[in-house]
Amino acid sequence: MRAAILSIGDELTLGQNVDTNSAWLSARLAERSIITVEHRTLCDDRQAIAAGIAELATRCDVLIISGGLGPTADDLTREALGDVMTPGIALEIDDVALRYIASIFSSRGREMPRSNQKQALRPASARMLPNPHGTAPGLAGEVGDCRVFSLPGPPREMQPMFFDHVAPQLITTAPDQVLLTAQVQEFGMGESVAAERLGDLMDRNNNPLVGTTVSDAIVFARIRVHGDARWASTQIEQTVARIEQAWHPYVFGSTGATLAEDVGEMLRHSKTTLAVAESCTGGWLGKMIVDVPKSSDYFIGGFVTYSNAMKSRWLDVPQLLIDQHGAVSLPVAEAMATGALRASGADHAIAITGIAGPDGGTVLKPVGTVHIAIAAQGRAQRAPHSRHFVFPGDRLAIRDRAAKAALQMLRFALIEAPENTPLLWEAASRPSESRVPA
Ligand code: ATP
Repeated sequence: MRAAILSIGDELTLGQNVDTNSAWLSARLAERSIITVEHRTLCDDRQAIAAGIAELATRCDVLIISGGLGPTADDLTREALGDVMTPGIALEIDDVALRYIASIFSSRGREMPRSNQKQALRPASARMLPNPHGTAPGLAGEVGDCRVFSLPGPPREMQPMFFDHVAPQLITTAPDQVLLTAQVQEFGMGESVAAERLGDLMDRNNNPLVGTTVSDAIVFARIRVHGDARWASTQIEQTVARIEQAWHPYVFGSTGATLAEDVGEMLRHSKTTLAVAESCTGGWLGKMIVDVPKSSDYFIGGFVTYSNAMKSRWLDVPQLLIDQHGAVSLPVAEAMATGALRASGADHAIAITGIAGPDGGTVLKPVGTVHIAIAAQGRAQRAPHSRHFVFPGDRLAIRDRAAKAALQMLRFALIEAPENTPLLWEAASRPSESRVPA
């Protein structure tokens, strides 16, 4: 079964509101093995809405519309549906709906405004769908072979109406046929390299179908399989396993966990603790770690050492090192990590120092330059492990990417990935910034 979703409203096309209804509806349809093939958003224009409904109905089995059922002149979904379902015939008043709308107003001690009568109108061939949370009833009917459902825009009204009146109508004729989805995520490998590693797994005619997307620097492989329930579930498992293998060691969070959750779980499992020392991320890394419930099991705390003086006072970073290499340098990152380890008594420490911009960059150290070091008690005799990045993006993106790269570096250390495993946005270090013993 193929579905389309049509969202209506000037506030959506003008960018004043974000269309969350389409995403929510698609996810609910996918749970019912129905593939959504199109999301369309239209402004409050009767002709355009009617044309959209007519066209989508020729290509889909189910069309779900949200919005435009209110009482005002710019709410035109009802009229547009009438233009397509019963062209040339006026909309009819639905007496049951009219009484219901009037009862809502009388229960609030108010008289129903005339404009609300409009909400009881429906095309002659359509039926009303009760809306227990608002005054706008929904509509259901057919356009050719396509079943059309029109629901109010506010999510708190639309969602219960979907469950009560749309979902029961969408039982597929072949209950043993399912649509299953899964996703695998990785950080540190660019999307094109990640896609190359998947090879023919990404062929567009495959079932399971695999596609990649990037969101906040995390690359996702989205898997979709359609078919017999047992076969589909085996296919999903095998495809997930193949992608995880292809993306090793960058792949994380097999259960959908964030990098911080994944690393936290490893620390908990190894009964070791973590401290952080942050400069340009200003506590962002600590926040990511503490976002995870029960992070107190392994997270000791953090030092936000933004100034050079704080780096020296709290983390014992020698002033000479800062004078020689600058606060944004590998030696200082490593000294911060070692200092955090010493001052906190943690088993592992991560340190970040960089230039988040928009100002402060130079030719040698452009905005986005970040040095990240990790140190561990067991490594006391060895230098901390550190990397030099140049992250693209604005102040927000640079700090977010830096915190994620830091977590991935610690993750690599915990799973004992080779130290030279490259990470996206890593830069070759300049000779003047080579490591010094910690
Ligand atoms: P009513 O006017 O009776 O509230 P309606 O069906 O006319 O219902 P709209 O006027 O189109 O709905 O939208 C009302 C509000 O619902 C919007 O201001 C917005 O907050 C929310 N909304 C509408 N469409 C969407 C959507 N696609 N995704 C998320 N929110 C939406």
